[in-house]
Amino acid sequence: MAARLRLLGKSVQQLNGISGKHVCGTASAVSVPNRYQHSHPKSSDERPRLETSQAKSLMDIGTRGVFSSDHDIFRESARKFFQQEVVPYHAEWEKAGQVSRNLWEKAGEQGLLGTSTPEEHGGIGADILSSAIVWEEQMYVNCTGPGFSLHSDIVMPYISRYGSKGQVEKYIPQMTAGKCIGAIAMTEPGAGSDLQGVRTNAKKDGSDWILNGSKVFITNGWMSDVVIVVAVTNREARTPAHGISLFLVDNGTKGFVKGRKLEKIGLKAQDTAELFFEDVRLPADALLGQENKGFYYLMAELPQERLLIADMALASCEFMFEETRNYVKQRKAFGKTIAHLQTVQHKLAELKTQICVGRTFLDNCLQLHAEKRLDSATASMAKYWASDLQNTVATQCLQLHGGWGYMWEYPIAKAYVDSRVQPIYGGTNEIMKELIARDIVKEK
Ligand SMILES: Cc1cc2nc3c(=O)[nH]c(=O)nc-3n(C[C@H](O)[C@H](O)[C@H](O)COP(=O)(O)OP(=O)(O)OC[C@H]3O[C@@H](n4cnc5c(N)ncnc54)[C@H](O)[C@@H]3O)c2cc1C
Repeated sequence: MAARLRLLGKSVQQLNGISGKHVCGTASAVSVPNRYQHSHPKSSDERPRLETSQAKSLMDIGTRGVFSSDHDIFRESARKFFQQEVVPYHAEWEKAGQVSRNLWEKAGEQGLLGTSTPEEHGGIGADILSSAIVWEEQMYVNCTGPGFSLHSDIVMPYISRYGSKGQVEKYIPQMTAGKCIGAIAMTEPGAGSDLQGVRTNAKKDGSDWILNGSKVFITNGWMSDVVIVVAVTNREARTPAHGISLFLVDNGTKGFVKGRKLEKIGLKAQDTAELFFEDVRLPADALLGQENKGFYYLMAELPQERLLIADMALASCEFMFEETRNYVKQRKAFGKTIAHLQTVQHKLAELKTQICVGRTFLDNCLQLHAEKRLDSATASMAKYWASDLQNTVATQCLQLHGGWGYMWEYPIAKAYVDSRVQPIYGGTNEIMKELIARDIVKEK
């Protein structure tokens, strides 16, 4: 697919004025930011970019030194997409427990899937910062239904980096187009934090594999067309980690059964499912990468998953802060708006400071990752700290909404319940501290 997307014709200078509002404009095609480009402002006549703490709104387009004006144009297009194609339907999808299939294809048409997957593999070929724009824009509309980030930036990288030519050709272009939805199944009823406790197994039968076991809590599991399944392939290995492999399992394969969509306290429009594998016969080319190398692939890819969760957590904080700032400026008590109360002002000052401190670290992590220098411990710090901050901000912003904050019709209520899972998945925050601590005390 050519790295050209349908984007708006507005100038970057006009963007701040329309931030957070419905965006209209004439469509024209422009290039997406290239993944090989550096993302600092390039031309000398480009004005220095404001950082989040200096901007009018924490969600302003055209801010943050890690991005360029090309990114701003892409962000404008992503913002328009989420506002027009997701917001109006999200309540309906919350009732259904899943988004529509049509949404995936529309996102594909806009270049919002596989954004940073190499173009030569059938992705869009933009940089990782462009993927971050898609993550952030989804949080800025407070709609957690579409499992785009997991599909594009967790599942697709495994196929693109470890897949054979045939697997890349079979899956990547379809996934970029939103015609094939991806999921990854690591967790089992008895194995979450400790992935070495996985019991799902695949045994050789001639050149085929026979897969047995079950998985739980799988994002996009119900809608998935292809699932990367983590399975034990060598029980005799030196350690369990040396005997784990990854398999690509297509929806409809005999013996692959999708269980119920799980009922969650939040992420109501995102499908999370149980998956069962009963004597599933897989051809040799369903193996992803090399036999018994699965654990190494997981360890290599998990930092990006953690960065993604962290960046989405920070973006959610920015959304909640702006939502609350607007609310306190119009809510009246004792004859004036509650924004006049010094305790409220100080609370907002504390929240803004914490969010902006977090944004600086997160942008630094994004830049490191763009330069392929993000290490596991730093990604774990970002994930643990940002997702904890998200929960603190959610609690305090809801409190500033009073009883209305507890009502589902208020966006802060949804943001509050949706934030709760962030310290749990992608490796719990306790496991993040383990990883950070190991790095601190190890002999260098
Ligand atoms: C909405 C949702 C979506 C998810 N999506 C996916 C998905 O797409 N694919 C997938 O494979 N999984 C997915 N998961 C699973 C998720 O990654 C696991 O729930 C998570 O890794 C924790 O595993 P667990 O639930 O088994 O908890 P456990 O491992 O049983 O942990 C229970 C508690 O013990 C603590 N604990 C465990 N070990 C240690 C330790 N060594 N030191 C300190 N504390 C420890 C944990 O931190 C936690 O507080 C999802 C989960 C949810 C809720």
